[in-house]
Amino acid sequence: MAYDVTLIPGDGTGPEITEATRRVLEATGVEFNWHVHQAGLAVLEKTGTVLPDEVIESIRKTHVGLKGPITTPVGKGFRSANVALRKNLDLFANLRPAKSFRGLRSRYDDIDLIIVRENTEDLYAGIEYQRGSAELEELIDFIGRTTGAKLNKDAAISIKYISVPGSRRIVKFAFDYARANGRKKVTAVHKANIMKFSDGLFLQVAQEVAKEYPDIQFEDRIVDNMCMQLVQKPELYDVMVLPNLYGDIISDLSAGLIGGLGVAPGANIGTDYAVFEPVHGSAPKYAGQNKVNPMAMMFSGVLMLRHLNERAAADRMEKAMAAVIAEGKDVTYDLKPRPDDPTSVGTSQVADAIIAKMREM
Ligand code: NAD
Repeated sequence: MAYDVTLIPGDGTGPEITEATRRVLEATGVEFNWHVHQAGLAVLEKTGTVLPDEVIESIRKTHVGLKGPITTPVGKGFRSANVALRKNLDLFANLRPAKSFRGLRSRYDDIDLIIVRENTEDLYAGIEYQRGSAELEELIDFIGRTTGAKLNKDAAISIKYISVPGSRRIVKFAFDYARANGRKKVTAVHKANIMKFSDGLFLQVAQEVAKEYPDIQFEDRIVDNMCMQLVQKPELYDVMVLPNLYGDIISDLSAGLIGGLGVAPGANIGTDYAVFEPVHGSAPKYAGQNKVNPMAMMFSGVLMLRHLNERAAADRMEKAMAAVIAEGKDVTYDLKPRPDDPTSVGTSQVADAIIAKMREM
């Protein structure tokens, strides 16, 4: 059976790493029926939007997307295609694994973390009051009446929105992921000691959901302490679940623990749809140079294979990638000891090396 998958090459270096990833995925023996749709700068001029409706419609049909990075044009009137995609398809969970591989230059060699970031709420919900607006003035008056706080009106306000259903579904997602993937522990990360209502609610819901999963350990950590713990003893942690902002920060911290953006995969998952994409952006300065590392997108492809329940193919692809990283020969500049290393290979040569390794297995 061939899987229908929407393939979005993106722009900048996106098309190169997408092509490399597509070749490696096909070499696993799993069959795909790719529905290729353009988004980003590639279609902006023609369609006037970075995210044409046909992209969303395609994912609504295939239920699975594999996406290259998309540049967010700087300037007024452009919303990020990535944010729009997440909102349209209600991709509420951002899954970002951070795993050490021998050969990656990092201060640690034993990282195996799963970060589950809430994708729709928190300070990222987009509810903001602009300095000087009538709405801001009204809000400050309301805050004064209801709390007694006298806020200076020369200010701006962003709302931190945390709901019970939003918290519940993300914490359940983290526990279900832990259970399905043989993970032992979920850590909820928050700042409930200070934000007693919003983060307090997140923590309370997490504690309630944890009771439904007696087979998985549960603990919570305050986010500042979590940062220190991750730097000092990352091996103590397993699956972490976080509201949107902390999740954003901690997932980049975790990518740093394993050796950087070139190898950090991600997935945006909802109840009905899932879109897999690297954590990094479109690195436009390297576009068309066959230079950047395709492995973050390839690891996102491994996540996609697991999502499709093609576990044997996922394991084989990951093993072949691990072998190429460990050898350190057919890797891009970012995985060499120095970025100007003349033995660095290009994007498509990394794919060739991984395909050759899979054939040896
Ligand atoms: P970026 O991740 O594109 O690049 C930052 C730097 O990281 C690059 O200069 C490069 O040195 C390095 N890098 C990134 N990917 C790499 C790879 N695969 N191999 C080797 N090195 C790599 O971040 P940026 O420059 O801040 O953003 C560029 C554009 O991408 C922006 O328009 C931004 O909005 C967009 N972006 C898109 C996504 C997405 O589509 N999901 C995510 C982040 C940023």
